[in-house]
Amino acid sequence: MALKVDVNLDDIDAYAIGLVDISVCVPSWLKGEDLIEAVNLVYPTGIQSRWTLDDQTHFPGGEVHPNPCSRKEGKLHYHFTC
Ligand SMILES: [Zn+2]
Repeated sequence: MALKVDVNLDDIDAYAIGLVDISVCVPSWLKGEDLIEAVNLVYPTGIQSRWTLDDQTHFPGGEVHPNPCSRKEGKLHYHFTC
């Protein structure tokens, strides 16, 4: 599967990377399959299973999910698991 939208991949930032989860800061207009595809493209898991968007309403740390970025306007923070 390829990205269907024109997003600058430099705007896909991971700010926390764990073994089975990753937290990313991405443009807020990026949604759904395009969001998932972009994250997997820039930060491949390296294993067979891909990152999937966490369906929880809060991050493990307690913040609302997704969470507006406090440093860059127009960006959102999402949590993915694999
Ligand atoms: Zn951010």
